[in-house]
Amino acid sequence: MSEMRYEAPKTLEAAVALLAGADGVAKVLAGGTDILIQMRGGRVDPALLVDVKGIPEMTSIVAENGGFRFGAAVTAMELSEHKAFAKAWPGITEAAMLIGSYQIKGRATVGGNLCNASPAADSVPALIAANATASIVGPNGRREAKVEDIATGPGKNSLAKGELVASFLMPARPANASDAYLRFIPRTEMDIAVVGAGINLTLDAKGVCTQARVCIGAVAERALLVPEAAAALVGSSVDEAALTRMGAACSAAARPIDDKRGTKAYRIKVTGVMARRAAAIARDRAKGAK
Ligand SMILES: Cc1cc2nc3c(=O)[nH]c(=O)nc-3n(C[C@H](O)[C@H](O)[C@H](O)COP(=O)(O)OP(=O)(O)OC[C@H]3O[C@@H](n4cnc5c(N)ncnc54)[C@H](O)[C@@H]3O)c2cc1C
Repeated sequence: MSEMRYEAPKTLEAAVALLAGADGVAKVLAGGTDILIQMRGGRVDPALLVDVKGIPEMTSIVAENGGFRFGAAVTAMELSEHKAFAKAWPGITEAAMLIGSYQIKGRATVGGNLCNASPAADSVPALIAANATASIVGPNGRREAKVEDIATGPGKNSLAKGELVASFLMPARPANASDAYLRFIPRTEMDIAVVGAGINLTLDAKGVCTQARVCIGAVAERALLVPEAAAALVGSSVDEAALTRMGAACSAAARPIDDKRGTKAYRIKVTGVMARRAAAIARDRAKGAK
């Protein structure tokens, strides 16, 4: 590891100036649960680390436009302990709570989970299903992007030099709407997803699905939004027939790798199973939602 500069700016503007003006590799440091391991393993060797945990917008959770804005450097534990957020977005909350052990959750951030761009990142399918927007700040000012447009492949994201994700915007929750995230791992905990599925849906007063977003994780180079799966739910009462069609659409969209943790055929099958189960949970939550 070569010599490295560490900075801990207190404003977004200062962070962007540091990242944009750096010679050599400059990296954001959030919880460090991915990047410190990558540095120790020699996979990245940054000349500059910009610690963002002292920047207010990046570390706060606030109500905004009927929904929420939460900082990209909010930890998984902080997010899941926010009662109003957890009530509105139980699927995102359960996804964040699956990230590692309590020690890891106390450090790991949702922004880091997204920007690290692991195809198996747990919070990402839940955020995409929830239609979350990333608020990105860079040398050219602020721009908004849908979360599904950030990770582009393993370890790669669409952020330009000097840009960072400052916060996430969650839309207002309509009545009778909820979400759920499920993942499959070969062990009971402390493993990465072999398959993940995030579902967000809205029902009308009669229990008919009027809107749905379905996202699958760990079965392609990045989390995949599956519009065909959402279409299978819309107009139905999210009954067994609709769940079966939705699960089949998820399996059809999956393009996983074969490895020691699961064959391609196995992952494709499990994708449909996880998506069906997650959708049934989201449906039941939406029915119970005020
Ligand atoms: C033991 C262990 C268990 C784990 N279990 C899981 C698990 O079950 N599920 C799971 O999904 N992950 C798991 N992880 C991976 C990791 O904890 C998560 O990906 C975590 O959310 C990363 O967040 P961080 O704040 O630590 O990111 P960091 O390590 O600080 O950063 C990760 C990457 O994202 C970049 N980055 C961070 N924040 C921003 C930002 N706001 N804008 C732009 N770039 C940014 C950094 O430059 C770096 O490249 C585990 C890790 C460990 C060590």
